[in-house]
Amino acid sequence: SHVTFDEILNFWAKERPDATAFEQDGRITTYAQTDDLTRRLITLLKDRGIAKGDRIAWLGKNHDFYFLLYLAAARMGAVMVPIGWRLAPREIAYILGDTGAKLLFCGDEFVETAQNVSQDVPAKPQVIEAEAARRAASELPHASYEAPAVDDPILQLYTSGTTGNPKGALLSNGNLLGLRNPGNEAGLEWNFYEDGDCMLIAMPCAHIGGTGLMNIAVANGIRSEVQAEFTPVGVLEAIENGATHMFIVPAALQMVVQHPRAADTDFSNLKYLMYGAAPMPLELLKQAVKTMPTAKFLQAYGMTETSGTISLLPPDDHSLEGNERMRSAGKAVPGVEIEVRDSDNNEIPRGEIGEVCIKSPSNTAGYWKLPEATASTIDDDGWLHTGDAGIMDDDDYVYIQDRIKDMIISGGENVYPAEVENAIFGHPAIAEVAVIGVPSEKWGEEVKACVVCKAGEEVDEGEIIAYTRERIAAFKAPKSVDVIPEMPRNASGKILRRQLRDPYWQGQD
Ligand code: ATP
Ligand code: MG
Repeated sequence: SHVTFDEILNFWAKERPDATAFEQDGRITTYAQTDDLTRRLITLLKDRGIAKGDRIAWLGKNHDFYFLLYLAAARMGAVMVPIGWRLAPREIAYILGDTGAKLLFCGDEFVETAQNVSQDVPAKPQVIEAEAARRAASELPHASYEAPAVDDPILQLYTSGTTGNPKGALLSNGNLLGLRNPGNEAGLEWNFYEDGDCMLIAMPCAHIGGTGLMNIAVANGIRSEVQAEFTPVGVLEAIENGATHMFIVPAALQMVVQHPRAADTDFSNLKYLMYGAAPMPLELLKQAVKTMPTAKFLQAYGMTETSGTISLLPPDDHSLEGNERMRSAGKAVPGVEIEVRDSDNNEIPRGEIGEVCIKSPSNTAGYWKLPEATASTIDDDGWLHTGDAGIMDDDDYVYIQDRIKDMIISGGENVYPAEVENAIFGHPAIAEVAVIGVPSEKWGEEVKACVVCKAGEEVDEGEIIAYTRERIAAFKAPKSVDVIPEMPRNASGKILRRQLRDPYWQGQD
């Protein structure tokens, strides 16, 4: 088995030199070229003063050059920091300053932003445009280098910032590849990746759904179809053109399934559709399974801090006939242990709600420059506390309820917004829904639903409340409904409940 990207690139360059590693807008980079170009890029990095442990940053959409740069950094032990291009300049400057990166690589449409933010941070990183760097590197010789230790960080990946400020999770070769060796992906019993397979990478590279997916594709020597950014049409076309594997977040899947062109799309190339990163509404999942009947669906649960997927719900649990399991995030993949614990860090009985805790070789060693957050997330025995509330059943299936931080305590009862959202989501007039707790004199907190209507539709508060009460316990149903024009989401497509909640709590606790 291969435990570093350096070993993996050497291996595939020998085994599959002419196989495509990356394809973007028709440009193909083979595994032999990936091996060659990354060796030249190491020279470029070293010439610009980069040594093992130094940070380099990327600001841009998904770009084949970014992936090459990341692999070059991984080979020599520099630390790659991809920064989300949808962030505001102030947020970009915050992350860039936090990392102390010496070089800031960028896509051509971000040169100006990159130059501006670079001026605002103490290290004043040098800005280098991607295509220019690729051309320059192609003229350079291979560098000699020493590969980093398996546990040295090579990727500093910021969390999505759903519950607070994004935190830089430090990930090493060992973290990123420990569970992802050829043949071991997800520990599935069939051959998950075969020669000629193609991974669609449309989720942002600054998120584990983008960079993490590329890790898996390269570990397995298959082709990555790189798309600059997610668009529903891009996904539909990529599938018709031969994408066999993809990962998608629920909000994006909804856009794909509801796109007018979905009805005429031939989905037969798609072998596996992995979804996760946020709670998946059951109605949407069923609709997707019906739209793509030949694809095998897998729910993935994981986080930036676990280098991505650590549990999977297998395709067999996606049958449409009243399957309770369809709401589960599945079972731990081989090599991973999952326990549900109470606030004293003791495992609790099956069937009860507690915090999902994870022990895995893919767990981060900690957050960059945040010792307190690190200490409160990873305990002395190396268990990572996810902040997610969950239940484990007698067959080791995990059910993610929601973020513990988002739990609503109403009249002494615990309400998990995701369950309420799931109940409301099926309403025919509603396109999107988020559930929050707002202050209440009577209940302490009460449940409020914020909904976006489908085009041309209107909803009545009383009717939504009645609709929800038919589906879940009355105390979980909303007491009020806000109709909002647009759902606040972050770059990973996750709903920012805190933005909806904050105005109601100002001046309160
Ligand atoms: P931040 O940590 O900055 O608040 P974030 O937690 O959204 O942001 P990520 O690391 O991108 O950042 O997301 C991990 C979280 O996503 C998990 O802790 C969990 O809450 C949620 N998640 C991931 N997979 C699933 C899933 N299959 N079902 C429900 N929620 C999921
Ligand atoms: Mg998180």
